[in-house]
Amino acid sequence: MTERQILVAANWKMNGTLETIRPLMKSIIEGVQGVTTEVAICPPSVFIAELAANLDGSEIKLGAQNVSQLEKGAYTGEISVSMLKDFACQYVIVGHSERRALYAEKDLLVAEKFIAVQASGMVPILCVGELLEEREANDTETVIARQLDAVIELAGIEAFKNAVVAYEPVWAIGTGKTATPEQAQEVHEFIRLRLARHDNQTADIVRILYGGSVNAGNAEQLFKMADIDGGLIGGASLVAEDFLTICKAMR
Ligand code: PEP
Repeated sequence: MTERQILVAANWKMNGTLETIRPLMKSIIEGVQGVTTEVAICPPSVFIAELAANLDGSEIKLGAQNVSQLEKGAYTGEISVSMLKDFACQYVIVGHSERRALYAEKDLLVAEKFIAVQASGMVPILCVGELLEEREANDTETVIARQLDAVIELAGIEAFKNAVVAYEPVWAIGTGKTATPEQAQEVHEFIRLRLARHDNQTADIVRILYGGSVNAGNAEQLFKMADIDGGLIGGASLVAEDFLTICKAMR
């Protein structure tokens, strides 16, 4: 089995102003020194340049929360992969449940964004996860299989060699409710097996992050599970001390 390096990625969502993100960024940069975990920050797009300038020389990777699937043109308000590349972004979140639910992003669009990110040399963090009613109807695996298969069909299984998957049960995002380590592990294992149906080696190396109210108190238990390779962190990534504790939580 491959030893997969833990990845902890911050998703700041639509939070912060220059006044608040500057000290947050400074504390994170200082606090992660010597940490063996890979750390990434996905700020709101308008702050990408500010982070790019400050992360220079730091081990922290820069990411974006969303991107257009299109190359360029008359698409008011959109941001292209080449714009993100200009600021040395390395990761892009695609298919976050908030994008799927609030901006009607469908599986096919998510797959197109995944491909655009990879074609530009960046790494997509593909979010998958079920709603509460889907879990209660025992549909978790069906939903996640559908979300994964849409990307496998369009991008091919090989593409997952250079991608990260984030399992984010929608009922646990921003709600303070976390999946238990066992509940999360069960779905992570399902995701890996689903990929393994196409290619064992790819399934073995792909990192699968857990997201959904990860905090300083539960990260370590979650990251101990065999198929949990780190976390996508929302709320707790806005508090430097909590985020740093999560970055230091080891397997
Ligand atoms: C997220 O939306 O990616 C997330 C995991 O948020 P939170 O940690 O706040 O639940």
